[in-house]
Amino acid sequence: MLKKSLNEIANIVGKDNLLTTKEELTCYSYDATNLKFLPEAVVSPHNPQQISQILLLANQHRFPVVPRGSGSGFVGGSLPVEGGLVLSLTKMNRIIKIEPENLTAVVEPGVVTGNFQQEVERLGLFYPPDPASLKFSTIGGNVAVCAGGPRCVKYGVTKNYVLGLEVVLPTGEIINTGVHTLKGVAGYDLTSLLVGSEGTLGIITKIILKLLPLPEAKKTMLAIFPKIDDATLTVSSIISARIIPATLEFIDQAAIRCVENYLNMSLPTQAEALLLIEVDGDRDIVEKQIEIIKDICSKNGASEVKIAHNEKEEEKLWKARRSISPALLSLNPHKINEDINVPIKHIPEIIRRLNKIAQKYQLINVNFGHAGDGNIHTNLMINKDDPDEASRARKAVKEIFQAALKLGGTISGEHGIGISKAPYLEMEIGKKNRALMEGVKSLFDPNNILNPGKLFLNNEHTQRT
Ligand SMILES: Cc1cc2nc3c(=O)[nH]c(=O)nc-3n(C[C@H](O)[C@H](O)[C@H](O)COP(=O)(O)OP(=O)(O)OC[C@H]3O[C@@H](n4cnc5c(N)ncnc54)[C@H](O)[C@@H]3O)c2cc1C
Repeated sequence: MLKKSLNEIANIVGKDNLLTTKEELTCYSYDATNLKFLPEAVVSPHNPQQISQILLLANQHRFPVVPRGSGSGFVGGSLPVEGGLVLSLTKMNRIIKIEPENLTAVVEPGVVTGNFQQEVERLGLFYPPDPASLKFSTIGGNVAVCAGGPRCVKYGVTKNYVLGLEVVLPTGEIINTGVHTLKGVAGYDLTSLLVGSEGTLGIITKIILKLLPLPEAKKTMLAIFPKIDDATLTVSSIISARIIPATLEFIDQAAIRCVENYLNMSLPTQAEALLLIEVDGDRDIVEKQIEIIKDICSKNGASEVKIAHNEKEEEKLWKARRSISPALLSLNPHKINEDINVPIKHIPEIIRRLNKIAQKYQLINVNFGHAGDGNIHTNLMINKDDPDEASRARKAVKEIFQAALKLGGTISGEHGIGISKAPYLEMEIGKKNRALMEGVKSLFDPNNILNPGKLFLNNEHTQRT
């Protein structure tokens, strides 16, 4: 019972850091899935000791605790599906230190990803993970789901940059994992287990991050393809040419048209697909690679290749890409966004299959995403108040996952499982792995108080439609 503990929680964090009115709670009741669950209270602690005390109370009085960053997740991971306390990490938002001589930094979880990137870039350093939500998502949230982003094709995902963590376990104990050095292999890799654990195993309160030197130069280009198959084949042609661009994004015609309606920026709406490509590195290598890629695009059927000549032009192209998600809602009020991942050579085939599935169930679909690493965001745009359409969408989602798995892929490249993909997790990992994961959860969290109802539950909460 959370009610019994509210006074004690207020004593721990101070009254101003505990919210209980319906209006306040509503702001923490949703994420990017369109699902809504009202918490009973929201607390904003300032340090791990406060979190530890709150978790001790949670064990004593058995109320759920749900960690939350910016609430921008696509799978319902930060939603209090079983009620209880939302624990917002946004007030723990200090960049504790940046160490250029070590190529490391230490941050609190509530630091906004884009702000951190700007800070390290001012020092000539580089933190590559760049979810399209970087202007508002938190590093803690990124670590908890192991977020990706456009630059993963060359630089990898969040887990490749996490060296160590400070974590408050569900039992209230505070532990440190990993190292402050660029390598370290003492014992099981608990840091890797916690990265991507979606707030089910512990609350991340400090993160030691690895940094890179900032590349000397970058160039961004937009390749316009009248035919979609030519665009998807170009993705593997570029990789086969042994060039790894920093980003290689695919955008289909439906997405182009939505963004054009949204931003009115003269995008080529007749094109069936676009590739947004960025290369970075030493200046002379960048110049050479951009010309090779331009040539590959033209040979593969691009009608035009536009190269951005300055930062303003680059930003315009990226603004178009980052606006796809919100722009899509002009098509229909609800969006089911799946982030399947397939081996790069299967991109043309998965796009064909996705379009076929949408046609079969008479649904509007939009495909875009990080094609360079095989991660396609397929969006079914529906009106979930139409029960027939919602039921067709449910069937389509299952077939989308089956298609990805048949091609050797995964049901989630970067968004995680949360509640919305929980019914499908076993399709990919099998019974034994699932049982092992549940065993790990109960080892960390014997009373199941931290983010319950996530990953493993297949109940009515998990249905987005
Ligand atoms: C427009 C848009 C674009 C996006 N683009 C991308 C993209 O390109 N790549 C990508 O990977 N994702 C993307 N996302 C999804 C989302 O932004 C990411 O999942 C992001 O990492 C979530 O961060 P957050 O701070 O909002 O976390 P939240 O949504 O608040 O939480 C996410 C999960 O992490 C847990 N959590 C949060 N903080 C902590 C903590 N300190 N300790 C333990 N658990 C915690 C929560 O319980 C929840 O399970 C996008 C979302 C939007 C809306």
